[in-house]
Amino acid sequence: MNCQVKDELVSQLIALNNKLNLLSPDLVHGDEERTEVQQRRESLYAEIKHHRAKGHDGKPCPAARQV
Ligand SMILES: [Zn+2]
Repeated sequence: MNCQVKDELVSQLIALNNKLNLLSPDLVHGDEERTEVQQRRESLYAEIKHHRAKGHDGKPCPAARQV
């Protein structure tokens, strides 16, 4: 069973991972930006976890899978 909300959250997570991979370590502001992206990723993880556990009227997501 598919879940659009889950798909959307996961694609956001993938986008953040890609962004993190693209951030060059030798950029002057790379560390700051990396920290910011990592924080957004953390909160997205929490959101996905919450959605999978009880995102459907307090019930688990039918599309719950390993991210
Ligand atoms: Zn769902």
